Amino acid sequence: MKARAPSLRAYRGSLLHFLGDPGDGDAAPAVQYFDDGLLVVENGFVKAADEARMLLPALPAGAQIVDYAGHLLLPGFIDTHIHYPQTDMIAAYAAQLLDWLDDHAFPAEHRFADAGHAAECSRFFLDELLRNGTTTALVFGTVHPSSVDAFFAQAESRNLRMIAGKVLMDRNCPEYLRDTAHSGYRDSSALIEKWDGRGRLHYAITPRFAVTSSEAQLESAGRLAAEHPGVFVHSHVAENLKEVKWARELFPQARSYLDIYERFGLLRERAVYAHCIHLDDEDRQRMTHTGAAAAVCATSNLFLGSGLFDFAAARRAGMRTGLGTDVGGGTSFSMLRTLAETYKVAQMRGHRLTPWRSFYLATLGGAKALGLDDRIGSFAPGREADFVVLRMDSTPLIARRMKTAHTPAEKLFALMMLGDDRAVGATYIMGERAWGSL
Ligand SMILES: [Zn+2]
Repeated sequence: MKARAPSLRAYRGSLLHFLGDPGDGDAAPAVQYFDDGLLVVENGFVKAADEARMLLPALPAGAQIVDYAGHLLLPGFIDTHIHYPQTDMIAAYAAQLLDWLDDHAFPAEHRFADAGHAAECSRFFLDELLRNGTTTALVFGTVHPSSVDAFFAQAESRNLRMIAGKVLMDRNCPEYLRDTAHSGYRDSSALIEKWDGRGRLHYAITPRFAVTSSEAQLESAGRLAAEHPGVFVHSHVAENLKEVKWARELFPQARSYLDIYERFGLLRERAVYAHCIHLDDEDRQRMTHTGAAAAVCATSNLFLGSGLFDFAAARRAGMRTGLGTDVGGGTSFSMLRTLAETYKVAQMRGHRLTPWRSFYLATLGGAKALGLDDRIGSFAPGREADFVVLRMDSTPLIARRMKTAHTPAEKLFALMMLGDDRAVGATYIMGERAWGSL
């Protein structure tokens, strides 16, 4: 077999990535920002990221340099909670969570019994993620195993690092969307066998939430989790007060809503719970102690009137935290729109997210929440080269505002408060351009 010549390419522009959590202060040693930086990619992996003047002399003669001067390169955004089958009913007018599920989400998910619809929607969904600069996501399918087959087939064809799973729900939902404890276990096992670890794909055991699963089903989900310790667990917890009350009524023996999941072996590393709004301090300690992570979904929590995530309490407890768009309860695929709303949610609870920490949460923080920070989320050497190029002038207003923003932190803050999909100039997957207008 003929060996392929190593491909080496460099990208020059402003560079931002993180070595760790930059914390809440302005001085942040974990921040790596290079105004005139160079990202060197070899065979799809990061080889180096530093000041251009440091790296340029060592580049081999004739190495290709892509010029993104004036633009910002950062690791691809990581969306730690989203539902691809809800793409078609985003922005549906409804009351709060439980009515919204009945009136909009469940009927939309019914259509995924049709594999053709699932494939078509997967294509649109992944296009939309890339257009928004999101390169990895933790994704709900529907109860139909074919919804996950369709999604993974599309993700595999694009070489994306994606995580998804078939929804488990066997009660308190329409008949047409129910599995059983037995069929849910069997179908999930088969999907794990088929997809987990194939290419860049990972499986997530996905009970929708405690109220739509019987005890027998949560037991079987816990059994799956024990049998597959490297597989993800993905669910919702403590989103809406009516939901919390209902969960407590259905599982009176549990200390709290979160405790239901722990009793069934579903709190652990690589377990990600969306929302985590109405938790108490003991719950937060359990999250930290078990290594489970919270996916904070600001646009969804505001849209459905669910509540405000408590960043200060999560931080005191040392909880792993990532950000999710939660489309279609969330109202945007854009991680920039999500950062803006996350900032406001934190403000409402008396906490301020610095621009550094905001971009950290959308990149390396998300990777850490997913336990994938050894592969994605930063420009450390050896990481997979999934990255985005952001324009700093995507609208007349942003271009004007940038003229009066002097420090990198000021510019980033204006970008996250005002930016949206138009700010994403290009998205790269494993060093290959997957989408772009720049
Ligand atoms: Zn959700």
